[in-house]
Amino acid sequence: MNTNIDRSVEESNKLFELAKKVIPGGVNSPVRAFKSVGGNPIFIDKAKGAYLYDADGNRYIDYIASWGPMILGHANDEVVDALARTAVKGTSFGIPTELETKIALLATQMAPNVDQIRFVNSGTEACMSAVRLARGYTGREKLIKFSGCYHGHADPFLIEAGSGAVTFGTPNSPGVTKGTAKDTLLAPFNDLERVQEIFAANEGEIAAIIIEPVAGNMGCVPPAEGFLEGIRKLCDQYGTLFIFDEVMTGFRLAPGGAQEFLGVNADIVTYGKVIGGGLPVGAFGARKEIMSMLAPEGPVYQAGTLSGNPLAMTAGYTTLSILKNDEDIYVRLADKTRYLAGLMKTALNEKGLDYQLNQLGSMMSLHFCKDEVVDFETSSKGNNEMFKKYFHYMLDHGVYLPPSAFESYFLNDSISYKDLDETAQIFRDFLISL
Ligand SMILES: *Cc1c(COP(=O)(O)O)cnc(C)c1O
Repeated sequence: MNTNIDRSVEESNKLFELAKKVIPGGVNSPVRAFKSVGGNPIFIDKAKGAYLYDADGNRYIDYIASWGPMILGHANDEVVDALARTAVKGTSFGIPTELETKIALLATQMAPNVDQIRFVNSGTEACMSAVRLARGYTGREKLIKFSGCYHGHADPFLIEAGSGAVTFGTPNSPGVTKGTAKDTLLAPFNDLERVQEIFAANEGEIAAIIIEPVAGNMGCVPPAEGFLEGIRKLCDQYGTLFIFDEVMTGFRLAPGGAQEFLGVNADIVTYGKVIGGGLPVGAFGARKEIMSMLAPEGPVYQAGTLSGNPLAMTAGYTTLSILKNDEDIYVRLADKTRYLAGLMKTALNEKGLDYQLNQLGSMMSLHFCKDEVVDFETSSKGNNEMFKKYFHYMLDHGVYLPPSAFESYFLNDSISYKDLDETAQIFRDFLISL
């Protein structure tokens, strides 16, 4: 039934060799290089709806949606038409446009606790700026983050847990200074007690605590009952700002993102991915009282030559408008994701393999391990050899999964039940092949 079994990837391999000569590792973002699953990445020629087509003409059902942004599916007609109309009017001015206000109005209507929003060019920039804003607003310097949560590649976030009992982290990339690392305190995800201890030991010093309300960068890890609510209380008690990094979950789990989906209020929220509809966009927003600290209204500096770019705002505005006018989309996405997860669980149970399949809304991930995956440590226990086999079998048969066990799958609205059945059949064949 599937034609990809004898697929050639000759052209992709050729393009990868060429790319490696002029781009470090041949890619512009490390996860694309397949380092954790082995082999060469495929190069994409085009995409439409649920499908990717590589440089050799092979078709893949796409489960990463460009890591989230393509929630409607690829090359959505409305988005493409709107982009074409904008492009002919000029693509960048460095002078305000009405488009920026239109998307800001729409986004602040959809997102709870966001009176004002500032647009930037990536999720990294959004998170980096949100932390600066929190520091400027509170006059404090320390930041709490959670091991395994990803907030982009800015220095304060590239920190890993220090040894022994120390709470402050150490740089996990050369180039990040010890000075920066000492201001980032680390806690395990879903460990409220640890957070409480850190607050108590650093009274009056913690500007903000940043979290992925549903973690998606250690596989998909939902928050335990009461975890976010507990942090909310601690933030109120200690005068610390609670930053929800909704770069993944924003406009994906619900129109109002994880705040709405989970019923917990944040002080500052960061966005990226879906808010740009496939163009490079990030954003951060908060109550007016906090946002008015930003330049030019206030003293906290933040700027961007291409921020609010007309093409980016057009793709974002059109995508958010479609989502706002069709809220059933969230029900459809969650139903489809549950359906696929259910078929995979049945097959795994029949095979008798150890696994954990976490799923929430249109996010899910599969770990080949026995213990529940609740944080970075438990997520790291997955059998990576098994994951590699699984990834490559699915790829060979026309299913594109995240090329790392530490990433979430993102379903898009163009995926059909037929696609899901086909995916499940390939998965069953994989289990039989073991
Ligand atoms: C992707 C991501 C980021 C970084 O966004 P970029 O646009 O890649 O800079 C930040 N936080 C979370 C939760 C993400 O998933």
